[in-house]
Amino acid sequence: MLGGVLAYTLVPIDGTIAPSIALEANQQTTAEEQHAKTDQVTDGDTAPSTQTTEQVSTQPNSKTVSVGKGDTLMKVLVRAGADPQESHAAITALSSVFDPRRLKIGQDITLNFSKTDLAEKTKTNDILQLVSVSLNQDVDKQVAAIRSPDRGFKAKETIIELEKKMARVGGTIENSLFLSAAQSGLPNQVTLQLIRIFSYDVDFQREIQAGDQFEVYFERFVDENGRALKEGRIQWASMTLSGQKISLYRFKTKDDGFTDYYDQKGRSVRKTLMRTPIDGARLTSRFGKRKHPILGYTKMHKGADFGAPRGTPIMAAGNGTVEMAGRNGAYGNYIRIRHTSEYKTAYAHMKGFAKKVRKGSRVKQGQIIGYVGTTGRSTGPHLHYEVHKNGRLINPLSVKLPAGRKLKGKMLTTFKSFAGQMDKAVAALPANTKVAKLAD
Ligand SMILES: [Zn+2]
Repeated sequence: MLGGVLAYTLVPIDGTIAPSIALEANQQTTAEEQHAKTDQVTDGDTAPSTQTTEQVSTQPNSKTVSVGKGDTLMKVLVRAGADPQESHAAITALSSVFDPRRLKIGQDITLNFSKTDLAEKTKTNDILQLVSVSLNQDVDKQVAAIRSPDRGFKAKETIIELEKKMARVGGTIENSLFLSAAQSGLPNQVTLQLIRIFSYDVDFQREIQAGDQFEVYFERFVDENGRALKEGRIQWASMTLSGQKISLYRFKTKDDGFTDYYDQKGRSVRKTLMRTPIDGARLTSRFGKRKHPILGYTKMHKGADFGAPRGTPIMAAGNGTVEMAGRNGAYGNYIRIRHTSEYKTAYAHMKGFAKKVRKGSRVKQGQIIGYVGTTGRSTGPHLHYEVHKNGRLINPLSVKLPAGRKLKGKMLTTFKSFAGQMDKAVAALPANTKVAKLAD
């Protein structure tokens, strides 16, 4: 499918063949291919989809375009020939079901047009009215903005039903976990989950040795033909390091509604706070005295700065409640989260906040709360990150992390019986040393 332009086909709005397309959108494509995909108009005689037939009175005109580097939804729609005002209306409607900032490079967007009366009269194709905009947010979820009779746009979400199947994969580490996991066919996304889950306890740079073992029991979502289209979560995983086996179980504590991974003794793997609430950023300024880049004089820097491109997602460093989300003077767009009675974290200079993150909302560790920007007193895009302990600012990089939750009493009893059932479920599946790749 990466072979060229001709292989590229129309994505119908009803989503029946959309899953495979969406998967390809996640694969790496070159800029050239992305641009080649752009601006392909499908034939006018292509059958219109069920969702749009009611609106399309004249010849349907469908177009699928790919998101390129630096594109916004607005740019993509206008480039595809949609009127800017109509595009704006469609995007506004779409925003209620899709965060336009989540747009991915290579992602496909399908636009449907109808000819206006003027276009009919003048026999031109230039004057087209936007009827719908749709995209696959995921292999099992399509979002769309569809023109409604009152001439506005309405949002629509379509869930494509996929069946959940469990898979069990294990292997012995020869060189690196990543390599051995890849050899056993463990999908990258699942390997990353595995690393994340164990990263609180295992130093993957130093502690892994040849002969160590891993085993993962995870969800896969398959279509009606049994083809795996999407990986789900790890429900159970184990690592045997120098003969010592650690097993982790995904478990939801009913009292607070949080889901986490616990070891056999019911101890959460998570520490209360993540050290770096941003992926792939580089530390550009530490906690301590420094010459202020804007004010010019020496001043105490009471946080850690992480340089990252504008728009890079920022995660909540721990479970907690948003205490403040808004403009905050020199901090620019600012979020402060209260985690425990002792700890709070703050995030500054953000470009903007993630949807539904506002004062009073509960956030989970690792949840995206906003995006890197350079608002407030800032010289360039970066995250200024602070840790407050009992009202005092402390060094985020040297903070001794308090341990996560340890289950007790009735909750521990419930967990132990859950873990026992999980062990049986895992044992009931044959242990594969090789798993089939996702369908493409
Ligand atoms: Zn700073």
